[in-house]
Amino acid sequence: MENKEKCGHASGYNYCRMGMTDSDFQSAAKDLTEFVVNYYSNLNEIHANPSVEPGYMKSLLPASAPEQPDKWDDVFKDFDKIVMAGLAHWQSSRFFAFFPTATSYPSILADVLIDCCSCMGFTWNSSPACTELEPIVLDWLAKAIGLPNAFIYDGKGPGCGVIQGSASEATIMTVLAARAKTLRTLAVKYPGQSQHTLLSKLVAYASECSHSSVERACLIAMVKLNKVPVDENIAVRGDALKAAMDKDRKDGMIPFYVCATLGTTDCASFDNIVEIGPVCGADVWLHVDAAYAGASFICPEYRHFMEGVEMVTSFNFNPHKWLMVNFDFSALWVKNCVDLINSFNVNPVYLRHENQATTIDYRHWQLPLGRRFRSLKLWFVMRIFGVENMRKRIREDVQHAKTFEELVRADDRFEICFPVHLGLVCFRLVVAGECDDEKINKVNQDLLGRIVDSKEIYIVGSRVRQRFHLRLVTGSVGCDDKAVKFAWKSIQKHACSVLREIV
Ligand code: PLP
Repeated sequence: MENKEKCGHASGYNYCRMGMTDSDFQSAAKDLTEFVVNYYSNLNEIHANPSVEPGYMKSLLPASAPEQPDKWDDVFKDFDKIVMAGLAHWQSSRFFAFFPTATSYPSILADVLIDCCSCMGFTWNSSPACTELEPIVLDWLAKAIGLPNAFIYDGKGPGCGVIQGSASEATIMTVLAARAKTLRTLAVKYPGQSQHTLLSKLVAYASECSHSSVERACLIAMVKLNKVPVDENIAVRGDALKAAMDKDRKDGMIPFYVCATLGTTDCASFDNIVEIGPVCGADVWLHVDAAYAGASFICPEYRHFMEGVEMVTSFNFNPHKWLMVNFDFSALWVKNCVDLINSFNVNPVYLRHENQATTIDYRHWQLPLGRRFRSLKLWFVMRIFGVENMRKRIREDVQHAKTFEELVRADDRFEICFPVHLGLVCFRLVVAGECDDEKINKVNQDLLGRIVDSKEIYIVGSRVRQRFHLRLVTGSVGCDDKAVKFAWKSIQKHACSVLREIV
């Protein structure tokens, strides 16, 4: 169809506004659904990480955008040839790196509708359904993972959930809210002190194994972060936290925020919030970062890891990691939403509306103003899976990790470094007669390098207390027992070649 023709009202909406005619869109959408189904049907054959060099794309694409329209077929062909070639396939049966990123058909369908309606939900008036659905589905999710009633909104609050883009944002939001709340209290207590002086005394606390996003949040909030040493289970205990706070208080500092991690990135260890809660008391904001492990609490058998949760001020986890909701979807609950709203409330004329006294305006609960209709994804996922099947999926992934753990334990050239509670297995090659940790670290880094270079599987390493280990994480769509057995064979093969070179 000629451009001129398309710019008229071909059918339905104007081509110039929507970029395609209705029938071209329908035909392209057919290509896409076929592509998606084929992609998920062939996950076993897809390499997890691509064989491209940095900068590979520059020579394949023009330096400027086309003046005249490209055809869909050409764009789609280029997507397949140029983009797919450089993608890491996180859902491949050979992908065991990082923590997983979730997806599912219901979530993909919701994303299509979200993009279709393309509305903004920053105030209730800006799109009422957007705001109304969010606390309802976050109540569903809170109940499904066993959060206490204090976090449930139920149409009135003050406990309530809000969707953030990431766990990092949730931490930033809570650090900033805790900072604002503490400064308000301190301003009354010490009227002679400047905000600047008071701010310079604030200290946040987190495990020495907490995620780097906690450090980032404290940098942004311009507050000191004190890393608390962990015990032999890589957990922050109450006495260690208390010792750190006592010392800081003696030095004139003011503890105001603790981030406890449930499921650390290094080794999926759990801070002891039963002990941490009473140390924080009423004055210190206790935030839980359960970015990865939070999804497992949908299964009652893992909830003992969050014992003490009734004492926390805010709780966050990423359904976009391990609960079938596509990125971005990070669920944050606070016991008292006023703590967030009071910290970030600005009210320009153009955002005011007649319902703001009686409705939630999520613009006060997040960093950006604009917000997608992300709750639709969780609504679709929870309805179409049903909570029972969501539990089943988590249990399957844990079982795959257990299968891998057994394989590692059966080979005495390897050791399991930390207890396998969920889908993360931390292991390393032990070199007979070698006690020097640095040398063992080098051997394992070498092993990791060979595994990754082979492109057979994709895993990453980490380090706890100066000891380097390899991490294998289950949870991709393609993951099953066959996949972890394949991974183990590949690892063993590369271990043999590493060990051969040592002797
Ligand atoms: N916290 C923990 C424990 C994590 O493992 C991660 C990422 O893996 C994060 C925070 C950061 O998550 P996000 O990418 O959602 O900011």
